Amino acid sequence: MERKYEHIFFDLDRTLWHFEENSNKVLRDIYQEFGLQELIPTAELFIDHYKRINEELWVLYRENKITKDTLRWKRFGDTLRCFQLEDSALADRIGDYYIYHSPRQTELLPYTREVLDYLHGKGYKLHIISNGFEEVQYIKMQESAINHYFDVVVLSEKAGVKKPHPYIFKKALKLAGALPVNSLMIGDDFYADILGAKRIGMDQIYFNFDQEQAPEPIRQEIRCLSELMSLL
Ligand SMILES: [Mg+2]
Repeated sequence: MERKYEHIFFDLDRTLWHFEENSNKVLRDIYQEFGLQELIPTAELFIDHYKRINEELWVLYRENKITKDTLRWKRFGDTLRCFQLEDSALADRIGDYYIYHSPRQTELLPYTREVLDYLHGKGYKLHIISNGFEEVQYIKMQESAINHYFDVVVLSEKAGVKKPHPYIFKKALKLAGALPVNSLMIGDDFYADILGAKRIGMDQIYFNFDQEQAPEPIRQEIRCLSELMSLL
């Protein structure tokens, strides 16, 4: 039987590149490097506050309500403010440190390399569609040595819109020479990846690493990337 898919589109952050692990490591380094222990009792407390604030700001960024630059310094400025420290110069320096070091971390989700090897070996064309910042996404793929697996990499900044906007998916399909019917999207973000792909008629696999309750019925779900080796 002829197989259905020829093109597999992956999200990058939290799907292949282990965003949580890599980010936590750099945040722990920041806590040490910038002497934050004088101010904040534990690194975990700093990380918890930062994450909550960063998530809220990312929602605004995704809705185009704040710019990338604002997101970058404000997330640290607001975090320091939770601990009664008002220091925008320090927030800027921490923001720069984070942007430099975080994409150079190389932790991948379990089985990333095995699965990419497997799919590549089976002749699937592999691609990336990501909402991450342009200057860091290529570094992440290079540093973690997975860039050679992908034919087409489409990033939201170049596309001009972010997932789940249909245009970014259409652009990726066009560049890859793919059609919705022979393509599959795999990602961890229900809204951006799964609904986005569904909207243009692409099949989707929801990578539910954190085992969250999906807000609506989904076509297919995996808890570990290794499951792809029996599905595809
Ligand atoms: Mg993701």
